[in-house]
Amino acid sequence: MNASYETVIGLEVHAQLRTHSKLFCGCSTQFGAPPNAHTCPTCLGLPGSLPVPNAAAIELAMRAALAVGCEVRERSVFERKNYFYPDLAKGYQISQYALPLNVAGKLEVETEAGGRRVIGITRIHLEEDAAKNLHSSAAAQTLVDFNRAGVALIEIVSEPDLRSSAEAEQYLRNLREILMAVGVNDGNLEEGSFRCDANVSIRAPGATELGTRTELKNINSFRFVRKAIDYEAARHHAVIAGGGKIVQETRLWDDAQGKTVPMRSKEEAMDYRYFPDPDLPPIVVSAAQIEAAAGVLPELPATKRARYVAELGLTAADAGVLTSHPALSGFFEATVEELSSRLGGRIEPARAGKRAANFIQAEVLRDFSADGLEASLPLSAAALSELLALLEAGSISGKMAKGVLAEMIASGKPAAKIVEEQGLSQVSDSALIEEVVRKVVDGSPDNVAAYRAGKQNVVGWFVGQVMKETRGQANPRMVNELLRKLLEGE
Ligand code: ADP
Ligand code: MG
Ligand code: ZN
Repeated sequence: MNASYETVIGLEVHAQLRTHSKLFCGCSTQFGAPPNAHTCPTCLGLPGSLPVPNAAAIELAMRAALAVGCEVRERSVFERKNYFYPDLAKGYQISQYALPLNVAGKLEVETEAGGRRVIGITRIHLEEDAAKNLHSSAAAQTLVDFNRAGVALIEIVSEPDLRSSAEAEQYLRNLREILMAVGVNDGNLEEGSFRCDANVSIRAPGATELGTRTELKNINSFRFVRKAIDYEAARHHAVIAGGGKIVQETRLWDDAQGKTVPMRSKEEAMDYRYFPDPDLPPIVVSAAQIEAAAGVLPELPATKRARYVAELGLTAADAGVLTSHPALSGFFEATVEELSSRLGGRIEPARAGKRAANFIQAEVLRDFSADGLEASLPLSAAALSELLALLEAGSISGKMAKGVLAEMIASGKPAAKIVEEQGLSQVSDSALIEEVVRKVVDGSPDNVAAYRAGKQNVVGWFVGQVMKETRGQANPRMVNELLRKLLEGE
């Protein structure tokens, strides 16, 4: 079969909104509470309870939509999506269907060839999360935790515009960065605040119709997304090459087995019998509210990346790493700013930017993963900028700076104090260095003669002597310069 078959992917992302309370009741959304601690008649689905929409959730959903160029509709409608499952006590999920809050946006991805492609966003709608079933095989029972029931989500549906698992991962990373940057989502994949369903099909070269798709449910890791899509595309190839037909169905990625397994087929697919929820009036937002939401949008990651390259001297790759989490870009920018102000502006922005970017990536980010849990940095920007200022001024060497950083993280002490306590400071006092260099040169006329006779490598011996005299603290660049000057007889 022709290997140039094209893979077609459309993603449905569920992102939890960062509201304090749930979408239709006042219960807390805090993660990790004891089971069923955050519940009330509304989110437990008790008869007679009434939902009241959370204005903050609507505001965040608009913000997300505007950040990806969607149109926010002034009138949208909550509908009931009816199905039966133990994690859905009401027997329906409140979602949006025919009239979603937001439509028609777009997101750029970088292709493997280094270009850019625009991926269409079909719609972004508001909905409530379901509860969580906890299966205990030991006790042979399933328990239901309703803490998550009713938590506000947005579902972001893409057009079937993605063409590889790598592009799908790019799309997800970019989307997650944007949602975090605008304060809509915490990006926490492990806690399930950001998860996706991937729809996959393949088609022959030049075909205009889409192939039959399968839907891979509930993926919450970038690694699994790639593996699941690659596996599924290969499975489609094999089925079609064998003369078979793809059956439209829902499947799950089983990481232990390294394959996708069927969950339910189209015949078993539910008819959700959507209809407008009679308990909820349409959401009506004014043009002024939409404008206000647009007004609070911060600088988006793509703009940030371009600015870091243009103004702060960073490579595109470095800018990509440093904008991967708002905590990280905030830390980087504050470090650059404080470094310049500590040096009284006597440092070019591009030099301060590069210095901070290199040090943060090489030394500070060792244990920082922006993919998983909420990011936490081991020290403050103020503390780091003090260390970088000492490095920039030549008071300590790069090697010393690494040791000082480790001690700062371990003890919480400021850089200058550690440098002082450990007697570390690199000597950059030219008069002092010159004194030592002169002493060493005067003390060894033989080696001076050897140098002048053409044995250039005795310089190394002289440097060694000076370092010994200064207990390794002389600024090596200054030592070398002075030595050459004296040896040349200048
Ligand atoms: P549903 O809501 O039933 O899952 P939708 O038509 O809303 O179906 O599509 C959901 C997602 O599936 C969208 O992201 C869309 O781009 C994607 N999709 C639809 N058809 C295909 C296809 N043939 N191949 C790949 N993705 C598809
Ligand atoms: Mg779907
Ligand atoms: Zn509640």
